[in-house]
Amino acid sequence: AQERYASIRDKQAETPCGRVIGLHMNAGLMADLPSLAGSGAEGVGLFRTELQFLVRNQMPKRSELSALYSRVLDAAQGKRVVFRTLDIGSDKVLPYMKPNDEPNPALGWRAIRVGLDKPGVMRMQLQALIRAAHGRPLTVMFPFVAQYGEYLAAKAEMDKAMERERILGHPLPARLEVGAMLETPSLAFAPEQFFEEVQFLSIGGNDLKQFFFAADRENERVRRRYDTLNVSFLTFLENIVDRCRATSTPLSFCGEDAGRPVEAACLAAIGFDMLSMRPASIGPVKSILRRTRLDGLRDVIHAARTRGEESARPAVMDYLASQG
Ligand code: PEP
Ligand code: MG
Repeated sequence: AQERYASIRDKQAETPCGRVIGLHMNAGLMADLPSLAGSGAEGVGLFRTELQFLVRNQMPKRSELSALYSRVLDAAQGKRVVFRTLDIGSDKVLPYMKPNDEPNPALGWRAIRVGLDKPGVMRMQLQALIRAAHGRPLTVMFPFVAQYGEYLAAKAEMDKAMERERILGHPLPARLEVGAMLETPSLAFAPEQFFEEVQFLSIGGNDLKQFFFAADRENERVRRRYDTLNVSFLTFLENIVDRCRATSTPLSFCGEDAGRPVEAACLAAIGFDMLSMRPASIGPVKSILRRTRLDGLRDVIHAARTRGEESARPAVMDYLASQG
């Protein structure tokens, strides 16, 4: 499939209406990194660090993590890599760090909540990331932030880790970017100060959608019940785009929907300039973006909303068919 898109691999995802969309890839293992060159991705928009923790039966050591992150940065050859700090709990349980049985793990003690309540592991990981950067730029993203205070607390851990490394005389990253994932509806309504403070945001659409519709992403019976192109959901996402524009906060979307061509085109149409997806999706998504007028697509989505339609999908499919 990658070969089918080889002719556009080194071209930008530029639309006929002149928008240029940044396409990045999701990764989690060293083995994913060769796809960076192969897919034509501009960088790694989401590096899921928990996979390294999940493939072992004991806590990895700081030196092991640092060596791994360093190899990831080597392999990226200067392209941006967004390292997401440990996102465990819910569907990702570590055998050596089990939460008590929780009636609703997706709503439970997970991700940044674990990181802030038991900061030892997060501190170790932040230190490993700074050491891995070794003077190179570093980008860190905190998962599952539900309110401004959690971001501030996590950012304070990052600042402390930097200060500790400085005192120890280790080289600091040339540039440090710290951001958050927006995966709970609450964060979309955070105060203006949050949007000003955070250096970038990335929508975790898999989680955000399950909480928006209250439909478990792991439950076969309900997971496909609500369409991503549901007009209410698109309106919600568009509001987040507007809030980020107001504060010039860079915004991306890194859930699985970013890798589905029709969904990706709609996300770009409502204002997302950066999408992160599995490497195999880069070609197909670039291809649809290069032949679709997004201004027209946005109008089609808004018209479906005005008509009171539940999902924009039928109208979107008609429009895309007309785009060739
Ligand atoms: C998401 O929730 O959309 C996301 C990218 O994170 P994960 O799928 O790892 O929960
Ligand atoms: Mg998530």
